[in-house]
Amino acid sequence: MKVYKFGGASVKDAKGVKQVVNILKLTDKEPLVVVVSAMGKTTNALEQVVHSYLSKDPDCEAYISEIFGMHLSIARELFNKPSHGVFEAITQLRQGLSDFIRQNKATEHAFVYDQIVSYGELLSTTIVAHYCVDSGLNLRWQDVRQCIKTDATYREGVVDWPATQKAIKQTINHKGITLTQGFLGSETKHNFSTTLGREGSDYTAAIFAYCLNALSVTIWKDVPGVLSADPRFFKDTVLLEHISYSEAIELAFYGASVIHPKTLQPLQRKEIPLFVRPFNDPAASGTRVGPGPDLKPQVGCIIKKEQQVLIQLSALDFNFMMEDHIGDVFKWLHSFQMKVELIQNSAISFSVCVDNKYNRLPDLVTQLQQRFQVLVHPKVTLLTLRHASSKLIQSSTQGRDVLLRQESGNTLQLVLQGVD
Ligand code: ADP
Ligand code: ASP
Ligand code: MG
Repeated sequence: MKVYKFGGASVKDAKGVKQVVNILKLTDKEPLVVVVSAMGKTTNALEQVVHSYLSKDPDCEAYISEIFGMHLSIARELFNKPSHGVFEAITQLRQGLSDFIRQNKATEHAFVYDQIVSYGELLSTTIVAHYCVDSGLNLRWQDVRQCIKTDATYREGVVDWPATQKAIKQTINHKGITLTQGFLGSETKHNFSTTLGREGSDYTAAIFAYCLNALSVTIWKDVPGVLSADPRFFKDTVLLEHISYSEAIELAFYGASVIHPKTLQPLQRKEIPLFVRPFNDPAASGTRVGPGPDLKPQVGCIIKKEQQVLIQLSALDFNFMMEDHIGDVFKWLHSFQMKVELIQNSAISFSVCVDNKYNRLPDLVTQLQQRFQVLVHPKVTLLTLRHASSKLIQSSTQGRDVLLRQESGNTLQLVLQGVD
């Protein structure tokens, strides 16, 4: 058994769906689980639906129609006959979403979010599965919510591994290709839909691979593989042919968004190799993550995160920053859902660089000001360099104010003033 994953960037249009079939036709006849994400930016569009629904915006229906319209037009490009079963399947999904919107009484944002956003992957896999079957592939569509079981932490479902292992063993027994949704799961008690966190489809592939003792996982991406830096921000990047699990975990943890950070540990546990390969060039070998040297070729890697916030705190009196102060800071960072990227402590100040993912900075600052002097740098860039030469460090910081610098082992982190 092998596991493949196709992301939203790959299945963003009819051409992408056709390329999925081309790639699947290249595999030998061994059993395969194929994980597919929502098409293009559908998840963002569904987030807009959630927001408009909960804020009782009359445009909510229009947003839904736009999303379904986009999927219908892709389906029309792929299927000639208006009577094709795929159109009925899409209509049923639309009905399911409309029913939820009409009947739902729950107001908890995260719960509503997961019930609505899950339609992205249900739609994409419905279209891709029908097209694969029409193209002659021996393929079965599987609802992933019968396979991946989580707790009720909506938006960040925590996998119940024993229940998932059991469910996967019971459902994945098809000899050919099983095609299923990334990112989704269902809550063990009531079977409500859950999601595994944004960009979580890579993780879905790893969950299947772990539970099935797969031979390998391949994630097909819109890049040649894992590069020494994100090509959207840097030119002259180098393809990393091989990365060790621990190096890949570090890169993903610090924000190399080409691999979701939760993907690697289940694979490392069973030494299942992960291949990151170019969707548009299936003959190319891409990157292999597995046992072996840290990096091949041995080059410096850069991870850049823009729009971060640096908060510098000092005591209101002439006190030092002690454990009780820092304890409170962490409590509030947690309760305001701030993802901590970097911390640095000195005798009289405590600095923390955070990702203000849920826009709760003003509330946090108000809370902190009751206890500390607070200095906020609202738009900073966090650069993480791995195995960097002095030349790379110099070129990365040239002309920029370095607000904070922290080095440990092979990792250097720099907080730079402003964004590019
Ligand atoms: P998918 O939708 O297939 O999951 P993603 O957009 O999540 O794809 O991931 C691919 C993107 O990751 C690339 O388009 C690239 O901009 C970005 N990326 C970030 N860091 C790297 C890196 N080190 N190497 C390659 N791509 C990277
Ligand atoms: N569709 C989900 C997202 O956009 C999951 C994924 O693409 O990995 O976050
Ligand atoms: Mg992704």
